[in-house]
This record gives sequence, C-alpha cells and structure tokens, in this order.
Amino acid sequence: MADRDGLIWFDGEFVPWRDAKVHLLTHTLHYGMGCFEGVRAYKTDAGTAIFRLHEHTNRLFRSAKILGMKMPFDKETLNQAQLDTVRENNLESAYIRPMCFYGSEGMGIRADNLNVHVMVAAWSWGSYLGEENMTRGIRIKTSSFTRHHVNITMCKAKANGNYMNSMMALQEAVNCGYDEALLLDANGFVTEGSGENFFMVRDGVLYTPDLTSALEGITRDTVIRLATDLGLKVVEKRITRDEVYIADEAFFTGTAAEVTPIRELDNRPIGSGGRGPITEQLQTLYFDQVYGRSDYYRDWNSLV
Ligand code: PMP
Repeated sequence: MADRDGLIWFDGEFVPWRDAKVHLLTHTLHYGMGCFEGVRAYKTDAGTAIFRLHEHTNRLFRSAKILGMKMPFDKETLNQAQLDTVRENNLESAYIRPMCFYGSEGMGIRADNLNVHVMVAAWSWGSYLGEENMTRGIRIKTSSFTRHHVNITMCKAKANGNYMNSMMALQEAVNCGYDEALLLDANGFVTEGSGENFFMVRDGVLYTPDLTSALEGITRDTVIRLATDLGLKVVEKRITRDEVYIADEAFFTGTAAEVTPIRELDNRPIGSGGRGPITEQLQTLYFDQVYGRSDYYRDWNSLV
C-alpha cells in the first residue's frame, strides 16, 4: 500500500505517496484518538464525481468536535482537498480516505501540546465485499463482541479507536468462515456490521436499527431517502437477532459496501436465501445515483 506512485494531501500540500510518512511517536498511533472518513468517487457521464462529499466532510467535523480535536482547516479547504486528491492521482473512480490525527509533538495521554494533522489519500477500490456477493449476497454471523456502549466510546464519531471493536468482530467472523459480522448492543439488540449499517425487510416494510450505537451512515441516509421516494415505509426501531432470522430480506449499507445483500445469518437463510427484490431495487437506485444516472439528487455528486 505504501509503495506506489501518486500523491497524498498532507496538511495543505501534496507529497509523493512513498514520502507520506509520520514519526513513530505519532500520538494517534499509540492511543487511537483520531477521526477519519471513507468517501467514494464514481465515474459519471459528466466526469468523475465524489458522492455526498459535503455530508462526509460534515461528519468528519462532527467527529472531531466529539473528540475535542481542533480542526486546523475549514470545510471548504477539506472538500477541495478531496476533489484535488482524486484529480491529481488521475483516478476515474476512487475510495478517498481523509484522516485527522495528533502528531508526535507530545506523548502520554496527558499531552496538551499536540497538533492536529490532516491527510487525504485516494486509490482505486472495487467491491468491498466481493463483486459476486453484490448479487448473491453474503453470509454473516452474530458477533460474540458487543458493539460500543454509548458511554464507553462515542458512537457518533467515526473515530480511529472505535475500529478495534470492528476488527475483532470481523476477524472472528472471517475466521469462522463468514463474510461479515453482525454486532449487537449491550442489551442484545442489532446495531450494525463492522463497517456497515443494517437493514431488513419484512412484509414490504423496511426496518433499520435506530442510531443509538450505530454510526450515522451516509449510505443509510441515502437508502432511506430512495426508499421513501419509492413509497416504502421505513421504520427505525430496536431489532432482535431472531427478527432478522425471519426477515424476508436483509442488506448492509456503507460507502465501501454500497448496498450489499445478506443471504444468511447464523446459517439461517434469510427469505429465499439470496438477494431479495426490494434489496435489488434499492441497490439499482443507489448505483443510478452514485453513477449520476439519476436526476433525483444531482447535488449529491460533486464533480472533480
Ligand atoms: N457503520 C460503521 C461502523 C462504519 O464504519 C461505516 C462506514 N463508514 C458505516 C456504518 C456506514 O457509513 P457510511 O454509509 O457513511 O459509509
């Protein structure tokens, strides 16, 4: 990953990919206090466009606020940095990773002289959970790891340290032969995947967990809007794992995962055990939107 051509935006300037390094005493490397975003750009007929750029940047600023990190750049600068990073690397479609982290100015959790640094990298990335799974659907497992409790880690922040829990859950699921994990909250209710929000369909109604301990997903919001436009009823509520077992359809949403159907939870087929019709419809609408083939929400696509 580190050894390739290209440019990374770092504190306001582009640096060659191979030289984009930080010191071993980088504070965030030690304690995980930082925040980041995962953003995608798609090749549309009008040119490459970042999908919901402003919403991602807004969430990055919300994350920084929650963590008490003082952002050294304004939103406009970071929006432009993301557009420039895609363009400078000649990418037609891209995954974009902005991150804010504390530098090596001090060590220890008491350090009070830390500077916030910001980077933006971009690279080509295909389907996060596998191309064939976009039609076939994935197999998932209820995790033995509990999702963050709201007073242990801050669930509204896309914080670096939060992803230790995600990685533990994902590693367990993959080691057991599944594609992804489904994490429950401290009370046993469904929250989300290791990097995706969760949806299920039952009797034509779309259900998704409320956002108590799941990330405020931007794809989740997109799908809720597209579903509502379709005339579907969308209900946010607490969901139990056995409700998922008897759902007609289920899927994950995320910038990386896009709309990925779920075909099995804990070895129980969901519905007919493949991609359901409502999932397929929403997946199609989602791709129409990100590839700029839809006129619904033109302002969601920011041209590079
Ligand atoms: N939950 C978690 C834990 C995530 O990491 C992500 C990916 N950012 C999501 C949900 C989906 O969020 P989004 O649709 O904004 O990418």
